Amino acid sequence: MSYLSVAKFGGTSVANFESMNLCANIITADPQTRVVVLSASAGVTNYLVELANGCESTRREEILAAVRGIQFEIIEKLQQPEGVTLEIEQLLAHVSALAESASLATSPALTDELISHGEMMSTKIFTQLLQERGYPAVWLDVREIVATNSHFGKAQPHDEKTQQQANTIIKPLIAQGSVVITQGFIGRDEEGKTTTLGRGGSDYSAALLAEVLNANDVLIWTDVAGIYTTDPRIVSAAKRIDTMSFNEAAEIATFGAKVLHPATLLPAVRSNIPVYVGSSKAPEQGGTWVTRDPQPRPTYRALALRRNQILLTLSSLSMLHAQGFLANVFAILAKHKISVDVITTSEVSVALTLDKTGSTSSGAAILSQDLLNELRQYCNVQVETDLALIAVIGNHMHTQAGIAKSLFNTLSPYNVRLISYGASTNNICTLVKNSEADDIIRALHAELFE
Ligand code: ASP
Ligand code: MG
Repeated sequence: MSYLSVAKFGGTSVANFESMNLCANIITADPQTRVVVLSASAGVTNYLVELANGCESTRREEILAAVRGIQFEIIEKLQQPEGVTLEIEQLLAHVSALAESASLATSPALTDELISHGEMMSTKIFTQLLQERGYPAVWLDVREIVATNSHFGKAQPHDEKTQQQANTIIKPLIAQGSVVITQGFIGRDEEGKTTTLGRGGSDYSAALLAEVLNANDVLIWTDVAGIYTTDPRIVSAAKRIDTMSFNEAAEIATFGAKVLHPATLLPAVRSNIPVYVGSSKAPEQGGTWVTRDPQPRPTYRALALRRNQILLTLSSLSMLHAQGFLANVFAILAKHKISVDVITTSEVSVALTLDKTGSTSSGAAILSQDLLNELRQYCNVQVETDLALIAVIGNHMHTQAGIAKSLFNTLSPYNVRLISYGASTNNICTLVKNSEADDIIRALHAELFE
């Protein structure tokens, strides 16, 4: 097959008619983009999550009106609104019925079914918009392709089944000259139920589809012109990074930069597919290419910040010279499907942060009372909140002299709750107060990057 790109446009890129047209410009200017993955229009998924969590009838009506408003604001500007009006009305009617069920009893399966409607609506409208421009766009229900397990809210794709369905359904469409418009974020389990891949999961969908289609690259079109040395809203001197490695990007994504969903890099790395991140509002500004082995590989690449971290300190005197304490703790965490992030240990205690990224679609709290009770039967548990994790991301950080010195110097005016250095060659993490995080980011950026 000839050169093939899979493009993904995020929620802000398909938020309104004007933004959708900028996306259409990008697609029609690039004949290699043959598969297009969309998020829901900005704001819609949040509204649908609120409905899925159950609300009383006045709030339900308010939300339905707001969602309808977002979609019809776009539809009214189409040349032929009637091309999609009926379908959107039907989808809104489903949303309304599902929201009513959710107000009686919520369930993870119901939540996924309900929130999948955001992507359904945005893709229907966008397909119509492209067709009106005379472009050979066809709409595809991605659930016919992306097969997953039944872990609602954060489902895992089945690669082989997805591969097979892509071969029989998408490849022929591409071969006949169509440009396929489809949904990110959603899939279908073995029983035929709708699943979602977790908030922000559309990037992941795009990378998965690129993998099964043997695409040459994945183009993530978002609202920022690439990945920066740190969040430009915090540090105006932050610089765009033109090329970086999969490893570096995975660290940046995992440690909180919202530009790429962390799981996006799994298929990309596995199948060595370059990922581009650029702005759909300003494509001419260029972006970041993420590839396997870009050169050079600087010691310091970026600073990532993740707010609102939870630190658990588990201590038990019986840990002294004992075996199996950590194994037990991790077994309990695993049972509650919690992934641990940064960890430090002493002779009688272990401190760890809980990873909230890639949380479930419903936004359920990760630290449940059940989990705490179970841990408490077994050790002392202290919970601290209002912390932020700052990660310095780079290369070969464990083999360079002087890194700790410049880091500690810069951090010296601040209270550092925990530091993790040495486990990864690609990052050094510190846990600090939420309220001091921005200042620390600015100080570190000035020291390491300016
Ligand atoms: N619409 C979903 C969300 O808001 C998926 C995505 O945007 O990637 O999380
Ligand atoms: Mg997103």
